[in-house]
Amino acid sequence: MRIDVVSIFPEYLAPLELSLIGKARQDGLLDLRVHDLREFTTDRHRTVDDTPYGGGAGMVMKPEPWAQALTAVAAGRAERAEAAGQSEGAGDAGVPGAPDAAGSAGKPVLIVPSPAGERFTQATAHELAEEDQLVFACGRYEGIDERVLEWAADHFTVRPMSLGDYVLNGGEVAVLAMVEAIGRLLPGVVGNPESLVEESHSDGLLEYPVYTKPSSWRERDVPAVLLSGNHGKIAQWRRHEQYRRTAERRPDLLAEFDAGKLPRADRTAFADLGYDVVDGHLVRRPDA
Ligand code: SAM
Repeated sequence: MRIDVVSIFPEYLAPLELSLIGKARQDGLLDLRVHDLREFTTDRHRTVDDTPYGGGAGMVMKPEPWAQALTAVAAGRAERAEAAGQSEGAGDAGVPGAPDAAGSAGKPVLIVPSPAGERFTQATAHELAEEDQLVFACGRYEGIDERVLEWAADHFTVRPMSLGDYVLNGGEVAVLAMVEAIGRLLPGVVGNPESLVEESHSDGLLEYPVYTKPSSWRERDVPAVLLSGNHGKIAQWRRHEQYRRTAERRPDLLAEFDAGKLPRADRTAFADLGYDVVDGHLVRRPDA
């Protein structure tokens, strides 16, 4: 996968050189490039912001440096496609060298981090891990001039995306989180792919609690079932712990959970937590 990040603080993305994502880059599994937006300005002060039309507090990111930066990223994609012998059919979508929807590789996805975007979830991470190129446009100040997103839609699949319902100072922290969540799903990045299967949010639930040695620590014992060697019982305990933990911490997730095919023991576990299965959905009993 190729990832391009455009930011006025390229150094902010340095942690992506570390740990599993850093190793994936070294191993050639992930080609990640960070671009300084100020390199695409033309004035002496390398200006990227200006006052908002309509008045109000703060500054807004100017459109032209963004258009220049994204044009350069799109042109790089076209050059790579050509070098790989895939350029036939790729059109000039108004961006020099940019592929259009008819191009062999289609439009790259442009993710614009924003608290006003769609929520980034594990499902989004899985979806985006299937793409061959992602471009991230890190906003600062009050955000990017809206016309950039409209213009970019001709050349990219534009997705304003939120890390959560809170406001950060810039898109860089959101990009660090999203790239890590997406990157670890790429084949070969996480050593044991099995460890991606039973994680929180992989099946709409939170993960069960985990323990390691010693079995007894500061007068606290690991649940006996985990030491029993009985794989069936361990699997059932873990599933029921997932239900308990999700009901306690994230009951909102249970509203979306498909309970239609739950075996009887699992329905009983949910009944003990105060939930009945009605038409395949979990419904909290009013008296629970
Ligand atoms: N005025 C904007 C609003 O109220 O929607 C907030 C701008 S914020 C101070 C500056 C930048 O931080 C945004 O353009 C975006 O790139 C990033 N940002 C802030 N909160 C975010 C969040 N929850 N998810 C993703 N990006 C965020």
